[in-house]
Amino acid sequence: MAEGVGWPPASLRPAVFLDRDGTLVREVHHLRRLADLELLPGVGDALASLRQLGFVLVGVTNQSVVARGLLSLPELAAIHAQLQRRLGAAGASLDAVYFCPHHPDAGEPPWRCACDCRKPAPGMLRRAAADHGLDLGASFMIGDALTDLQAGWRAGCRAVLVLTGYGQRTEAALTPDDQRQLSLAAADLPAAARWIAAQVGHRAPTATVAGGDPGAQSRRSRTT
Ligand SMILES: [Mg+2]
Ligand SMILES: [Zn+2]
Repeated sequence: MAEGVGWPPASLRPAVFLDRDGTLVREVHHLRRLADLELLPGVGDALASLRQLGFVLVGVTNQSVVARGLLSLPELAAIHAQLQRRLGAAGASLDAVYFCPHHPDAGEPPWRCACDCRKPAPGMLRRAAADHGLDLGASFMIGDALTDLQAGWRAGCRAVLVLTGYGQRTEAALTPDDQRQLSLAAADLPAAARWIAAQVGHRAPTATVAGGDPGAQSRRSRTT
């Protein structure tokens, strides 16, 4: 993409797809209780800065807790309502949250199935693109697992790994091919948002990103 040229696209809009657990909120294995939902530091400001750049913000999360019978759909909806409340209190929100309730081996049909939405499949991103008029080629996927990155790549997006959640473990296990495809390994979501702002040729105007050096967050120059 040429920096600053034709940005944002006139018809289709660019999106940032965001994994939930370990990216937006603290990783809790099979999160089921509202009390366990905790935003990671800086997430509200990071999302607000991405929205100011014109990105549609879409949560995409595998929730096999439904297939496993650990959580009902209303209970999962309550967790996502709580997520939006927490984001709202931090000055942000998601435009939509897509979830995959399936698992190929766990639970009973209809949830136990080989679906097209469980990451690394790109189904949730493609559905969001159709629903919201998104330009996948101008969009980014951010997550802490290889399956997040793969879902982004398969949908035609650029992918950013965050080192929160399982991110450090994921980074250590990347193949050379993964590393070539990966756009960035960022310390956390705020660092990822600063880098995306630099890619689209804008200085995000919030205090969160002012004075940041996006290059300092790149995987090649990262020192810790
Ligand atoms: Mg995750
Ligand atoms: Zn699914």
